[in-house]
Amino acid sequence: MSTATSPVGRPARSVPPAINRVGVVGAGVMGSGIAQWCAARGFEVVLRDAQPAALMRAGEVINGLFAEAVRRGKLDATTAAAGQARLSLTVDWTGFAECDLVIEAIVEDVAAKRALFAELGEIVRPDALLASNTSALPIEEIAGHVPQPERTLGLHFFNPVSRMRLVELVRSRDTDAAVVSAAQRWVEILGKTAVICRSSPGFVVTRVLFFYLNAACSLVEEGVAIPAIDRAMRDWGWPMGPMRLIDEVGVDVTDFIFGEMAHYFPMRFVRTTLCADLLTAGFRGRKNGASAGFYTYAGNPALPNPAVETLLTRGALKTNGGMSDEEIAARLMQVMREEARRCVEEGVVAAATDVDRAMTLGAGYPPSRGSLLAPE
Ligand code: NAD
Repeated sequence: MSTATSPVGRPARSVPPAINRVGVVGAGVMGSGIAQWCAARGFEVVLRDAQPAALMRAGEVINGLFAEAVRRGKLDATTAAAGQARLSLTVDWTGFAECDLVIEAIVEDVAAKRALFAELGEIVRPDALLASNTSALPIEEIAGHVPQPERTLGLHFFNPVSRMRLVELVRSRDTDAAVVSAAQRWVEILGKTAVICRSSPGFVVTRVLFFYLNAACSLVEEGVAIPAIDRAMRDWGWPMGPMRLIDEVGVDVTDFIFGEMAHYFPMRFVRTTLCADLLTAGFRGRKNGASAGFYTYAGNPALPNPAVETLLTRGALKTNGGMSDEEIAARLMQVMREEARRCVEEGVVAAATDVDRAMTLGAGYPPSRGSLLAPE
């Protein structure tokens, strides 16, 4: 990389390459979605997974996404076919030496990601940008050790990639300003909206959302009925209540992120145990074919899972635990506001409007309620 100047973040020391060819590592839910979206938007893409079976599944998922885009009129058949032709799958590193940007989307595990970035450092060009799709891990912790760490960053896409407009663009203490600018332009070419965040656990959306979900679990542990909590938050303006959202995200994923938040914010995140208890009892939510979590989904409509009550030491759930819907919403929104305010105070984002954009596009915060940081 040669020298340049740029207005954003750490002084620029380099000119990042033009991004034409993108490598994606990890062909799971996110890697498949990112690879398909990039190929559909005109980029050459190579997608790698260590497991041939995962790669085969990813190929089917990607074909399905192209077919759906044609069905919904988002792409014409010729453009979709050209996109498919731009994407290749590999179990080794074929094609990665030519990539201008590599996005890591493997399991959320610090050691696995660190090892992968070390490997990438040996395989890709020294000027190629190296990004992680991690939901919560500080970028320095997983990629700070690569040669030229100034080219590392986070590109946190949301699920499903084809529908969610937000990308949290995460700059670590190493990330070069020119890299931030280049990545921001690239995200715009993808048709997504970048919110620039400082590398800090959970960035904005994961942090604010999971403090809120944990507070909702705490209400259940105190005896408030699940439908009352979801109704209160839907009435407040959310597209979905928090207990139902946990089922959609996965009880396993939620409990894992609760663990990460407790690890990184030990003084403030009082981790509830309800999700861990549900998992032990075999309830994983609704993701990946699982059929019960806080609700059961055997019939329509979904019904509150009666097993939750048996897991609670304090016994039966009351209709609303003695709280009005307004009190429930006020308590949960207070937790969310507090965390959102901290994100601005700590400089995770530059302004309140960044938090609002991130929470609206990434979590469904209702903009009709005004700023999340405005006083109640
Ligand atoms: P996933 O479990 O669906 O897929 C991970 C894939 O990575 C698997 O196919 C696995 O075989 C592969 N893999 C693991 N180690 C590998 C290695 N060393 N080399 C190559 N492939 C390897 O995971 P996911 O849900 O797609 O999540 C991926 C990342 O994206 C995580 O960091 C997660 O936190 C983040 N994320 C997930 C979501 C979501 O809703 N699932 C949303 C945003 C961000």
